[in-house]
Amino acid sequence: MTNYEAIIGLEVHLQINTKSKIFCECSTQFGAEPNANTCVICTSQPGAIPILNKKAVEAIVKTGLALNFTINKQCTFARKQYFYPDVAKNYQITQSEPPLCSKGKLTITINKQEKVINITRIHLEEDAGKLIHEIGSRKLDYSLLDLNRAGIGLMELVTEPELVSPQEAFEFLTELKNIVEYLRTSECDMEKGKMRCDVNVSIRPIGQKKLGTRVEIKNMNSISGVRDAIAYEVERQKKILKTGGKILQETRLWEADEGVTKSMRSKENALDYRYFPEPDLVPFDLSDSFIEELQKQIPELPKARKARFIKDYNLSEYDASYLTSTKALADYYEEALNTLKDKKSAAKLIVNWIFTELNAKLNISKTCISKSSISSRNLAKLVSLILDGTISGKIAKIVFEEMYKNSTDPQLIIKEKGLLQISDEITIIKICKEAISENSKAVSEFKAGKKKALGAIIGLVMKKSNGQANPKVVNEILLKELKDN
Ligand code: ADP
Ligand code: MG
Ligand code: ZN
Repeated sequence: MTNYEAIIGLEVHLQINTKSKIFCECSTQFGAEPNANTCVICTSQPGAIPILNKKAVEAIVKTGLALNFTINKQCTFARKQYFYPDVAKNYQITQSEPPLCSKGKLTITINKQEKVINITRIHLEEDAGKLIHEIGSRKLDYSLLDLNRAGIGLMELVTEPELVSPQEAFEFLTELKNIVEYLRTSECDMEKGKMRCDVNVSIRPIGQKKLGTRVEIKNMNSISGVRDAIAYEVERQKKILKTGGKILQETRLWEADEGVTKSMRSKENALDYRYFPEPDLVPFDLSDSFIEELQKQIPELPKARKARFIKDYNLSEYDASYLTSTKALADYYEEALNTLKDKKSAAKLIVNWIFTELNAKLNISKTCISKSSISSRNLAKLVSLILDGTISGKIAKIVFEEMYKNSTDPQLIIKEKGLLQISDEITIIKICKEAISENSKAVSEFKAGKKKALGAIIGLVMKKSNGQANPKVVNEILLKELKDN
């Protein structure tokens, strides 16, 4: 029986985060009235001349530098020709050879090991418009054209065929998104189509050098969708080869609801596009100082932030990796910590609250941490109230529930509900004495040497105090009381 391995290459389109489009002054704002953001250039009127947006070049160079690319100083554009009604001029302005960025790298962690994935190129191009075939659930018997997206700048990033599993593709895209979010060169919002991915998948018998025939799955708009689609596609291809069939080179679509890929069209070859130099955009060279200036603007990236978390906050490798896996999470954590004076003692406790209680809530409500009803400031307050002994860990969970429901300040909740921790010895001695007299069985067991019996008495004290007695003080007093009588 032949065993097969999967080979995957990704093409990622990232909408560049600029105010205006790449070749005109129209706004890139998402969700505007159809065709509100258009002009003679992005609607492809004959004779309209594109003018390059410098900010788009800055964005791609920054992205390239952060991903260890070689920046090609010569900037040239080409026409990629095809017919499609959402690009009225019948060609797309893109970059052919050379792209602005060649030969980059991204390191992913897979099974606790680092693996470097080579990235072939990143180039600039313009986005296309959108054809609309339905309004709400009503299918139209004509099509509408919205050119708001036409001419928005894109960075297209193409990887080498080096990923070998659905999980590797997932890690690659997650890490890429993470880094680009730090750079702010794209918002990477997949729901708004600001990050899209074409996935190329083939399989080959293990040991064979030559790549198998690839299938391209177009326009994926979620990272977990990419993982699912690859897993499905690899199995589909294996079944075909194992029963003596042949893989067709084709473009397929992922049907998320059904969990299958479906054939869309057989794949045209790149030659069909008849690229030629764009005569309306004159080639020019980037200066060294332009590139150096952008290098200086690159902020702290996830890897460096992780190392800093370990060093400054004494976090474990695991905690720091998890916290820096998305920018939103790392920002939330650090915002919480920055509101506190004594960061070191709160650092681990905040991690615990995020990992357990907060994550559980966010998972259920499918909310991103940046939209959490508990603000980072309020979570930090809760943790400091535990640390200074105002409330016990147990009461904190009750307060947390309330905070999550109503976004309230924990101090207000404690005040309103009278949840302050009781540390006052006289009160606690009184409750302890009651508990001792009401549980003579546990008391005699304890005195006979069964240390565990103390737990039952502590439990009774906590119950009597509505969970508000300070457990440390309770423990001390009980031991003393039991010794004395
Ligand atoms: P196109 O633009 O026509 O889709 P490219 O040559 O730019 O073609 O390749 C696109 C992507 O396909 C790249 O990420 C590349 O790594 C990947 N790729 C190429 N051949 C294979 C293959 N046999 N199996 C899997 N991926 C492949
Ligand atoms: Mg392709
Ligand atoms: Zn325009």
